[in-house]
Amino acid sequence: MISPSTLLINNVKINLTLTSFFVRCTHSSIRNGLVGMVGRTPLVRLNKISDETGCDILAKAEMCNGGGSVKDRAALFLIQDAIRKGQLKPGGTVVEGTAGNTGIGLAHMCLSMGFKCVIFMPNNQSQEKIDILRTLGAEVTTVPVCPWDNPNNYNHHARRFAESLKNAVWTNQFDNRANRLAHIETTGPEIWEETQGKVDAVTFGTGTGGTLSGVGTYLKEKNRHIKVVLADPQGSVLYNYFKHGKLERTPGDSITEGIGQGRLTENLKGSPIDDACVVIDTEAVNMTFKLLDEEGFLVGSTSGLNVASAYRLAKEMGRGHTIVTCLCDSGHRYHAKLFNKDVLRKRGLLQTLPEQYHKYLHG
Ligand code: PMP
Repeated sequence: MISPSTLLINNVKINLTLTSFFVRCTHSSIRNGLVGMVGRTPLVRLNKISDETGCDILAKAEMCNGGGSVKDRAALFLIQDAIRKGQLKPGGTVVEGTAGNTGIGLAHMCLSMGFKCVIFMPNNQSQEKIDILRTLGAEVTTVPVCPWDNPNNYNHHARRFAESLKNAVWTNQFDNRANRLAHIETTGPEIWEETQGKVDAVTFGTGTGGTLSGVGTYLKEKNRHIKVVLADPQGSVLYNYFKHGKLERTPGDSITEGIGQGRLTENLKGSPIDDACVVIDTEAVNMTFKLLDEEGFLVGSTSGLNVASAYRLAKEMGRGHTIVTCLCDSGHRYHAKLFNKDVLRKRGLLQTLPEQYHKYLHG
């Protein structure tokens, strides 16, 4: 029986209220198709890092989402939002500008719901993400890297393409608050319930700002003393904005993908951020390899950056605290880049990578 708040698309029940899908699933261990594999990821204790700092450093294992990254949460909510607003109807096309992971999430959802998927990406992202998107049947166009205020920025390509098509929607992950809502309604409550409210701080790198902002908003409502820390990669403006009120880039160009910003997105505006830090590539990459070598996690560099920030926070806050972050995606998406000797050497990162990690490199 389908209630008036749900829509049947390709035999998949799409919930239009955005909330009750997850509520319904909380009471069942059976997941509702691919869409049911979004959220309720494991919260894992990073044992070695926790023991070293005397804190509990916990991470949501977001690579366990059905599409393999934290962005599956936003992808599902963006599609639900477009359907609810009548912007996307059966057989329609979802168009998005993305560093790749949101696109992969959208492409999975589109297959499960019978939509088409068109993706625009900057041309400096990993080949693996492009390959996955094409395997998922998405139409992918890569465009030269340029800032938001340039009409050739990948997001404007996506907007214009959607405008030129019938029954197409530009989901606009950066400025559509359905993205933040995904984390207010899923990631935040999951962290609160899984820690039974025993959480002292959260820290995340931000791309759209959806994760940090949504988790921060939810947890602050539960307990305003929970510290929310933005972890910025090198070359982004967010650290200087939140520390000094200036949209000024820190030096460098980061190996991380999908995080760092040149502007304040709608999803980041008004976020309850207590502090910000910069995690330079050396630190993020070294932590990515520490996670591999000591904990057995093969993750991407934004996960390394997140955990490096949590580690620093643990040292600052002192023993006995609980700090939560996330492992955003798997290292499988970056084999040819992050785990390649030549790439790391050219970026000056091989020279700072501890010798014991070199055995994990190829090329
Ligand atoms: N890590 C990775 C690998 C990502 O792709 C993204 C999003 N592009 C993020 C972190 C940041 O997530 P958010 O957009 O919610 O800030």
